[in-house]
Amino acid sequence: MARLDRVPVGLTSHARSWMPGSQFAVLAHPQPQLVKVAPDSLLDGPEFGTWMLVGRGRLQSDWVTGTLAPAWRTQGLRETEAPAESAAWWGTDKLIEFCSYLPDLSVLYQLVTSVRRTVCHWCGIDVIGDLCVFCSATPPPVHEPAPARALTAGSHRTHRALTTGG
Ligand SMILES: [Zn+2]
Repeated sequence: MARLDRVPVGLTSHARSWMPGSQFAVLAHPQPQLVKVAPDSLLDGPEFGTWMLVGRGRLQSDWVTGTLAPAWRTQGLRETEAPAESAAWWGTDKLIEFCSYLPDLSVLYQLVTSVRRTVCHWCGIDVIGDLCVFCSATPPPVHEPAPARALTAGSHRTHRALTTGG
């Protein structure tokens, strides 16, 4: 049985009740998930079309390429060997690693630029999204910029003046 200490504890508890030798599939990101491998069992897939990279270790199984990839509406598939570190990471070399990725750089660029980018107020590195990956600082509460507020108040006053005059 593989070591699953990299997976949240809640997920591994019911895996212990499975028969020794049974195969299971683990999703590490973005949402940890663990299922027993069966024709009708699935992991939650990406919300948009992706390609899949499959790294084969010593496990003989078509579940990833034959069941999971079609269920995730994978647009393309590339195969490679599992990285050498994978066996140590999972505690077994009977594995198949897989990940989804966006092959289209322009789509990836759009996704990244649509997310808020700031500079961490604590350590100063570029932050994409809300949490600094380096120091884990979250941005300070956002204060409404003063000029915008003045503009709103000004236009409101003008509007009221017009109404009164007419
Ligand atoms: Zn930081």
